[in-house]
Amino acid sequence: MGSTGSIGRQTLDIVRNRPDEFEVTTLTAARSWELLVEQAKEFQPDSVVIADKSLYANVKEALAGEPIKVFAGDEALSQVVTGSEVDTVVNALVGYAGMLPSLSAVRAGKRLALANKESLVVAGELIMAEAAKRNVPILPIDSEHSAIFQCLAGEVSPARRVIITASGGPFLRTPAEQLAGVTVEQALRHPNWSMGAKITIDSSTLVNKGFEVIEAKWLFGLQPDQIDVLVHPQSIVHSMVEFDDGAIKAQLGTPDMHLPIQYALRFPDRGDCGGQRLDFLQNPTLTFEAVDDVRFPMLGVAYDCLRRGGNSCCVMNGANEIAVASFLGGQIKYIDIADVIQQTLTRVPFVAHPTVDDYAASNLASRAIAAEIVAKLRR
Ligand code: NAD
Ligand code: MG
Repeated sequence: MGSTGSIGRQTLDIVRNRPDEFEVTTLTAARSWELLVEQAKEFQPDSVVIADKSLYANVKEALAGEPIKVFAGDEALSQVVTGSEVDTVVNALVGYAGMLPSLSAVRAGKRLALANKESLVVAGELIMAEAAKRNVPILPIDSEHSAIFQCLAGEVSPARRVIITASGGPFLRTPAEQLAGVTVEQALRHPNWSMGAKITIDSSTLVNKGFEVIEAKWLFGLQPDQIDVLVHPQSIVHSMVEFDDGAIKAQLGTPDMHLPIQYALRFPDRGDCGGQRLDFLQNPTLTFEAVDDVRFPMLGVAYDCLRRGGNSCCVMNGANEIAVASFLGGQIKYIDIADVIQQTLTRVPFVAHPTVDDYAASNLASRAIAAEIVAKLRR
């Protein structure tokens, strides 16, 4: 799911390197139909889905000579993951759009290799409960969660606490008064990772780190105060786990998503995934510092939402999606992103025990309110 994106393309690199191990059954994209067609010709899946229905004819025509079914629309995304030939669903969609396909995959008993953290931010309680009921594994692709998962492998004792590392993003050293004037281009320039646009902006505001705290709670069954965040500008230590005896395990490596993607796909086996190996002598200094919660208030807001529970994280996510798109579209300033999120959170009614329909409604409500706030800020 999302094969044309940053994680999707790197997932196909792994498949390309191990043709005897993996078979692609379905590929999906939102709008990048030409790349989707190219991927389909190379990997010969049973089906492809183009989410934007207006592009269906283009894909259908381009694949006319191939034995590949072509579907379009959001409902098709949730349907293809349930196919009998599917063992594992790699969810590399971005945003709320990934939530229903995750739920659908888990309900169909498919192993879920999860990059789309928004699935768990929005509906972590529900998705984890459905997975537990059916004994369906959810394997994290997000590098921090893969690191924690790797540290926990083979342990019988539970974690006392996890420490999620954060690069700090492009504005780690930017003084507060300069954040107002930050441009889209500056915010898209992540120091260590090359990723899709939305997560790159989320990394710069630390919304991404907040979402990772929420994701960690659901994946590993932790309480919010068992999850700490430390800034680690080198992005070498991908995250850590502390145990009751005081031992701390960490997973280290060069910043390259191929490793966590392959680990999720081949768990529990490892194997060469082609990346650059870490040389300590080239990286002799690893440093750690606290997050500045004055310049980066969104991490604290994410903890608040997590503690409040209900639909709060879903609302934060919806508001953030609108705020980020509006910033990327030049409608609001960089520092307005936090404002849009905070204001939206005060205005969407709280739902303590949301159903899937409640999540859908909260998502729509938070987007509508966030869009209203954006329109006011614009003037
Ligand atoms: P991206 O923007 O590069 O790719 C997103 C993919 O999803 C594309 O194939 C796009 O066509 C598809 N898509 C987008 N919106 C859609 C919609 N509404 N309906 C259907 N398909 C849609 O994003 P990415 O950087 O690959 O990130 C994917 C997910 O992985 C995100 O949740 C992100 O937070 C997470 N993640 C990414 C990285 C990374 O290194 N890129 C690291 C950790 C986690
Ligand atoms: Mg991450």
